[in-house]
Amino acid sequence: MTSDELIKIGSVFLKKNNIKSYTIDTELILSNIFGQSREKFLVNLDIKFSQAQIDTFNNLISRRALSKEPIAYLLNKKEFWSNKLNIDKGVLIPRPETEILVEGLAKYFKNRQLFMLDVGTGSGCIIISLLQELKKSRGIAIDVSNKALKIAKKNSKINNTFDRIKFINSSICNFYGSKFDLIISNPPYIANHQLKNLEDDIKFFEPKIALDGGNDGLDVMRKVIYKSRKILKINGMLALEIGNGQYKKVSQILKLNKFREKVIIRDYKDNIRCIFSMLNHY
Ligand code: GLN
Repeated sequence: MTSDELIKIGSVFLKKNNIKSYTIDTELILSNIFGQSREKFLVNLDIKFSQAQIDTFNNLISRRALSKEPIAYLLNKKEFWSNKLNIDKGVLIPRPETEILVEGLAKYFKNRQLFMLDVGTGSGCIIISLLQELKKSRGIAIDVSNKALKIAKKNSKINNTFDRIKFINSSICNFYGSKFDLIISNPPYIANHQLKNLEDDIKFFEPKIALDGGNDGLDVMRKVIYKSRKILKINGMLALEIGNGQYKKVSQILKLNKFREKVIIRDYKDNIRCIFSMLNHY
């Protein structure tokens, strides 16, 4: 069978099973089996696939269609800020919204030499991408999950930032040490009563620990803000990614902890997604 025929078969099957991104998912699966980027792969649609390749294709397509397994876990990879990242079920799949955080910080701190802390680094997507932009900077990445740290380390090696990041297995509460110019976090921020309403591919596959933010979704956010107050340098910046509709509450917590908001960034759907803030000094 040729790639053209397989794309048709796969897309129809995924569509029938309510996968919205049916074409792109099929193309990603197929190009991955062929060992090429999707863009390159699509140039020639007459490629012949062997029976073994077709079997792999059928297996991945049915896992996507029937169990709703996310593409990033099926292929064990995800692109973020043009970096190829290794991904498995131990880490949250990096989201395009998080690229907005990286973009905002890269612009704000252009050419600066910073010492940063990434709280709940997961796949390492934020700190790795940011350090690629800010070549003179370095930082520490912490996570409560050892599985995540293993992936993040691997990703920093593949993406040439390993020598500028120290990885530590710790929660923000138990973390003591240096003072930072910048603290970044995309903490788990889904309220636990809302976890059941998430899409199947998130709910059944992504690590709960990376999503669950407690009763109102802000348990970890509060801890990060509270601790940042103690471990930021004077004029240091705290950059947070927040969930939909959380701006007012997070804003209040920041104010209570003597933070002054400096930058607010909205996402593609016009939700306030990132807040950069600094401490007030009297
Ligand atoms: N920092 C990682 C990311 O932004 C992981 C975040 C998390 O697990 N909540 O994707």
